[in-house]
Amino acid sequence: SDHVLEYPTSPADMDWTLLYPAFTFERLEPETQPHAKGLTTVRRMSKNVEIADIGCGFGGLLFALAPRFPDTLVLGLEIRTSVTEFVQEKIRALRHQNASEGLYQNVACIRANTMKFLPNFFTKGQLSKIFLCFPDPHFKARKHKARIVSITLNSEYAYVLRPGGIVYTITDVEDLHKWMVEHFEAHPSFERVGEAEQEADQCVDIMRTETEEGKKVERNKGVKFVALFKRLEDPPWP
Ligand code: SAM
Repeated sequence: SDHVLEYPTSPADMDWTLLYPAFTFERLEPETQPHAKGLTTVRRMSKNVEIADIGCGFGGLLFALAPRFPDTLVLGLEIRTSVTEFVQEKIRALRHQNASEGLYQNVACIRANTMKFLPNFFTKGQLSKIFLCFPDPHFKARKHKARIVSITLNSEYAYVLRPGGIVYTITDVEDLHKWMVEHFEAHPSFERVGEAEQEADQCVDIMRTETEEGKKVERNKGVKFVALFKRLEDPPWP
């Protein structure tokens, strides 16, 4: 259960340097202890995470996105411990196998319950893309509160996403697709992306074909429902 999960108290507390060592540098900074006057060497990130895959499962999408966006940091968030460890192990292996090209240095996976404390990981407007691929459907009405799309969670996605950023959704459950569309369209920070723009987006194809669930639905000749939502600019203060 997630009471053993640890969360940073704020994004500034999150140490990303161990997850993306190739995107770090060292510099001298003033020591922070009280009364200290000296300088100390600190490791900092040269980039921040921009793409988040919420409930990444076994990481099929992450491994497809990483080489296509080699200069962008991609992060998978997954609640299951063993699945997270599998993805982390695979990242280690891929980095090792592709060391000469330096591929997969831009992808990492952490264990987290994304229904809690998402804004503790990311600052306002930090992300450009959020993927919600084949989220658990929670069919029964009394279980709908467990869905990862809701008015409250959509406000968190809006907070961490920059204006113009995109939430990508895909599911084979039509009822869940309608639920996601309804909840994002009802949210003042989002508008649905039109079909032409959706189909022109290379990430849509990747999401359809590279997620584990997408492959499973393909094998079973099922239908995949896709919807994208753009983060709107905040209205000016009255
Ligand atoms: N996105 C992957 C795909 O498309 O193949 C996996 C889809 S799987 C049906 C849903 C995943 O979401 C599972 O791996 C599950 O453990 C994870 N998950 C469910 N609730 C979560 C939560 N609150 N925070 C993080 N991950 C969650």
